[in-house]
Amino acid sequence: MKKNNTSEKFLPFALPLIGKDEIMEVVDTMKSGWLTTGPKTKKFEDDFKKYIGSKHAVAVNSCTAALHLALVAIGVKEGDEVIIPSMTFTATAEVVTYMNAKPVFIDCDPETLLIDPKEIEKKITKRTKVIIPVHYGGQACDIDAILKIAKRYKLKVIWDAAHALPTFYKGKNIGQFADIVCFSFYVTKTITTGEGGMAVTNNKKYTDKMRIAALHGLSRDAWNRYKKGGSWYYEVVMPGFKYNLTDIASSIGIHQLKRADTFLNQRSSIASEYTKSFRDIPEIKSLTVMPYGKHAWHLYVIKINTGRLRINRNQFIDKMREKNIGTSVHFIPLHLQPYWKKTYNLKAMDFPNGTKVYNQIISLPIYPKMTENDVKKVINVIKSIISINKL
Ligand SMILES: *Cc1c(COP(=O)(O)O)cnc(C)c1O
Repeated sequence: MKKNNTSEKFLPFALPLIGKDEIMEVVDTMKSGWLTTGPKTKKFEDDFKKYIGSKHAVAVNSCTAALHLALVAIGVKEGDEVIIPSMTFTATAEVVTYMNAKPVFIDCDPETLLIDPKEIEKKITKRTKVIIPVHYGGQACDIDAILKIAKRYKLKVIWDAAHALPTFYKGKNIGQFADIVCFSFYVTKTITTGEGGMAVTNNKKYTDKMRIAALHGLSRDAWNRYKKGGSWYYEVVMPGFKYNLTDIASSIGIHQLKRADTFLNQRSSIASEYTKSFRDIPEIKSLTVMPYGKHAWHLYVIKINTGRLRINRNQFIDKMREKNIGTSVHFIPLHLQPYWKKTYNLKAMDFPNGTKVYNQIISLPIYPKMTENDVKKVINVIKSIISINKL
């Protein structure tokens, strides 16, 4: 199709968009002499909780840390069970094992890849303490159904909201619904601080516990200790962790957050372009979008109809790479990962939807830095791969 394939630029699967404001704020922080958790992190937390509409926000150095602290705050104990989707990143499961608790994996819906509330209910036992649904790709789970189950069985709910900044359910930010909500600012996510995360809650006790646990179990954090009028004195009240977010990272976050809605609009228009272009192609199918929410469009996932193509998903990805387009797969389900599979004796046939869909899904580039031409190119390359390889 193109003569100059090798000289053409590669379109990465994901790229952050960092502006002058982020850079100037980092410079300001570096000149201030206060690099670690301090006034910029406080501002980032204040801005963040306002943006979400929650009472409290605790900035940490990853979403994984936020999820871990959420389990600590809730008081998950050895032997407790925590229900999580299999269609997620390993972080959702790994934090459960930090607590010596047991992750209980459930299958996804094949059209949305979201957790299926009916499957949650089937896996509840006397030991179940927490559910951690993932708002996969940036689409809200069936929140009413999940919260109803949680209430009935007296379970706590943590959102793994790594994809969900911002995601809305029935008009409200999903950060307002669960006991604790954990966001990610990893570099591929909808806003970034390089590495970073935020735990959001309306519960003061959880907030205090997470703050203390995030900084060595000290009774006061460094910011309180070192600010004017602070004191040298501290008490260790628990064996904590080192999860605090630096002011350098928060400097980036403050300005990324201001652009979160603009970024969303840009991703949404890419998503509608994809949806419109793929609607009439039977060889691929976009994931189903539920009418109850507003999608964050962190991911745009297509499922290829392998029965109508002479190439499989991996070959499809290779062909896209040959045409200079980066893609990814979200996710290799945890029930197929060696560690989780072996440790919890997980069988592919017990996760029929995830097992099947794993061999069909491809995540396409979707980020504000993409130009209209980039989007067109992705669409045209997909169409040409299909026309050459259809059965
Ligand atoms: C990225 C991601 C995480 C982990 O986020 P970090 O900030 O990198 O710790 C957790 N869960 C899901 C679903 C993710 O995609």
